[in-house]
Amino acid sequence: MDGLIMDYQLNVPAILRRGEQLYGDKEIVSRLPDKSWHTYTYADFARRTKQLALALRDELGLRDGDRVGTFCWNHHEHLETYIGAPVAGLVTHTLNLRLHADDLTYIASHAGDRVLIADKVLWPLVETFTDRVGFEHVVAVGDGPTPDGALDFEELLATADADDFAYRDIDERAAAAMCYTSGTTGRPKGVLYSHRAIAIHSLASTQSSTLGIGEDDSVLPVVPMFHANAWGFPFTCTLVGSKQVFPGPHLDPQSLLDAFVEQEVTVTAGVPTIWMGILQALDARPDGWDLSRLRAMIVGGSAAPRSMIEGFERRHGIHVTHAWGMTEMAPLGTISELSSRERALPEDEQFAYRAKQGLPAPFVEIRARGGDGLVPWDGATMGELEVRGAWIASSYYEAPDARDRWTDDGWFKTGDIVTIEPNGYIEIQDRSKDLVKSGGEWISTVALENALMGHPAVLEAAVIAVPDEKWAERPLGVVVLREGASATPDELRDFLAPHFAKWWLPERFEFVDEIPKTAVGKFRKTALRERFATAGAA
Ligand code: ADP
Repeated sequence: MDGLIMDYQLNVPAILRRGEQLYGDKEIVSRLPDKSWHTYTYADFARRTKQLALALRDELGLRDGDRVGTFCWNHHEHLETYIGAPVAGLVTHTLNLRLHADDLTYIASHAGDRVLIADKVLWPLVETFTDRVGFEHVVAVGDGPTPDGALDFEELLATADADDFAYRDIDERAAAAMCYTSGTTGRPKGVLYSHRAIAIHSLASTQSSTLGIGEDDSVLPVVPMFHANAWGFPFTCTLVGSKQVFPGPHLDPQSLLDAFVEQEVTVTAGVPTIWMGILQALDARPDGWDLSRLRAMIVGGSAAPRSMIEGFERRHGIHVTHAWGMTEMAPLGTISELSSRERALPEDEQFAYRAKQGLPAPFVEIRARGGDGLVPWDGATMGELEVRGAWIASSYYEAPDARDRWTDDGWFKTGDIVTIEPNGYIEIQDRSKDLVKSGGEWISTVALENALMGHPAVLEAAVIAVPDEKWAERPLGVVVLREGASATPDELRDFLAPHFAKWWLPERFEFVDEIPKTAVGKFRKTALRERFATAGAA
């Protein structure tokens, strides 16, 4: 017998409708390239988003399912496109503006983007790939003259009248957004998010056991809108009417800290490298900024070292929330917001839990598989994490050869090696391709680097596998020292020794000025392996 409940479509139009109807007076602010603030309301945002939705179809001729590429910093026009394309039945495809022109050409062509909406301040980069992709229209966003051959975003909006807009009840299974992941091997792969996935992901992000985003929050996503939907914040915030604060191109610690104060930010989110810079700035000027309103600093994308989580909490009273996710998961997977039973533990154990990646969000299920099948949840046995859930990709866009990322029973293989505690907390030990396989046993590079980053002289540390004649692979520590600080390999080994088995300790350390980063600010271990992967003596 079927339930007798409406077949209400969980879609992006429903998110916009709610934002518009209930929170019309709430603010959305964006930092412009000249560092001034642009401020408007949800009512203004909804009006312009409807104009864009109309213009994309009527003026540019786009039809259901067509892809609209974006090449923008985080700002209100990007938000208008994020929501405007899906409410028009189109698909927003965010392009990562830190990628090489060859990758951008491949990704935009593979996705079949018909239109590109791009920042004028990024035009030197825009020109490196637009001709090669052959977009039908390129739309330029921001102040200043419109580049030759481009349409101006404001002029495009002016072709439409928001009063002519009528909400469509778009099928919740239709695609609404798209993002390419680097994947573990081969070419970048496209993930196509459905309206339904975005709607449920947004609702889940408002739960107190996850991110707890609410109307009274002022949310500044440092994470770029091209990195896994800015972790869903533009959609979540619009659903619940939070104040939205976009940093534009100004992502240096001083600008961000000033923005937190000026816009009374309560929640912010980004990768650990951003927060390392912020922590240094705060340590240098502990009374420089009043951050008493900041209730959560969400850290994900790479492991947040315990020393960082503790440093923020103990020295500056700032609460770090550690989360794990993937582009294939829209991206929220697990969150280390402690349950009541872990909050009852001694402080030291609480920090240990908060440095793990946490519990799965509702409607995300986890399990891990080792060589002998599913591994026990004993906090010790490592296995590859497999996930399934309401917002997890069921396949990549037009990549039939990548079916091996899914199990026969439909779970997604994350490529992350984890241990799972009896209470369900996961701890990412490594990406499978980064793990050190020494003498047939696995060594977690993440655990070693997080420990190294707790050494007072160490600013950043990455551990990589290097070939070894006797053990097949050994760990090598690549270390950036703090300015004016010094440490020898022996000192670093002694520092690690109490916490690890002896055979885990790296024989070799290399001291460098900087660790190369990926387009989304993670350690680029492939570059380190190329540089240092000469066989070392054991
Ligand atoms: P990319 O493959 O380009 O890095 P994603 O941003 O989708 O793209 O990366 C997802 C991966 O990032 C995860 O599979 C995991 O390896 C890593 N990751 C994300 N969050 C964390 C975290 N909190 N701790 C450790 N690793 C993380």
